[in-house]
Amino acid sequence: NKQVVLKNYVVGFPKESDMNIVVGTITLNVPQGSSDMLVKNLYLSCDPYMRLLMTKEENPSLGVVTYTPHSPLTGHGVSQVVESGNPDYEKGDLVYAMTKWEEYSLIPSSQIRFKIEHTDVPLSYYIGILGMPGITAYTGFFELGSPKKRENVYVSAASGAVGHLVGQFAKLSGCYVVGSAGSKEKVDLLKNKLGFDEAFNYKEEQDLNAILKRYFPEGIDIYFENVGGKALDAVLPNMRLHGRIPVCGMVSQYNLAQPEGVTNLAHLIFKRVKMEGFIVTDFCHLFPKFLEFVLPLVREGKVVYLEDIVEGLENAPAALVGLFNGRNVGKQVVDVGHH
Ligand code: NDP
Repeated sequence: NKQVVLKNYVVGFPKESDMNIVVGTITLNVPQGSSDMLVKNLYLSCDPYMRLLMTKEENPSLGVVTYTPHSPLTGHGVSQVVESGNPDYEKGDLVYAMTKWEEYSLIPSSQIRFKIEHTDVPLSYYIGILGMPGITAYTGFFELGSPKKRENVYVSAASGAVGHLVGQFAKLSGCYVVGSAGSKEKVDLLKNKLGFDEAFNYKEEQDLNAILKRYFPEGIDIYFENVGGKALDAVLPNMRLHGRIPVCGMVSQYNLAQPEGVTNLAHLIFKRVKMEGFIVTDFCHLFPKFLEFVLPLVREGKVVYLEDIVEGLENAPAALVGLFNGRNVGKQVVDVGHH
């Protein structure tokens, strides 16, 4: 049973060498009387929050326990039931679950988020647009952002799993949308393939404040925050009266021992801005409503969904590390490789 294990707790930027590929053993059946599930993992999800679990200190409010050195990483996955100790599932069922970075996993049945019912769409979509990143974009944008037609929306990390969906949800809502990303190719993608009105490469801009003023002469109504630090600081003076900032993530801060200071917070007062953090797991009850919204969009091709798929567990560490240098375009997926 091939596994990706954490070698040691990580300090600073994660490296491929912080993880090891090992071959562990697993008995391929569910112990008698247990309600656990034996699953074959098909697709695994690479997510920025996983970096926060690579440290020794627990972050209890995150709601996920940190990783243990020499044990497999855990994360969202699409898996197939091999043997079930729970009468709600049977052999062959496809599930979206919190699983482990290995070929086969024995997991408590409580780790299953839902059984996959609609298989007319690619299965890997369930760790992306139809799974956690999708509902994150949906909840953050619609529930916290409360968009109105013709409002001005700025999305950072806009070509990533969450960002590229937020931008398209905003366009579908009749908003003006600008995104930022870390390369020329990503900027072209945002403008030419994903329908953003404007996009810029933040790595090439010396003065983020000036570029935001140029794209938002009347100010930003909704800033979908994925990045934090300097990006947030530049946005604050450019917010419009009664603007909203759903705080989804701060990927620029996760590897820093000392978070960057943000100096412009007083603009929250002047502009009466509502800035609100959220964790998507608090919104799981919205899954049925969310799928009802997003499945038709996927089926009718009304949203473009970008996946970046690497093949094989041996390439998973590089894929995960790549989230922090922008290697991925769209949702980073690991295809475990046995379908
Ligand atoms: P992405 O697919 O967007 O991957 C991360 C991207 O972030 C990279 O591709 C890179 O793109 C960009 N990035 C990395 N480092 C920096 C940096 N220092 N400055 C600016 N951009 C950077 O990941 P997700 O879509 O899965 O996640 C996006 C955000 O949403 C993250 O902050 C994540 O933690 C958060 N999140 C929060 C959830 C919640 O419940 N609150 C749930 C899911 C995600 P580029 O080339 O543009 O630099």
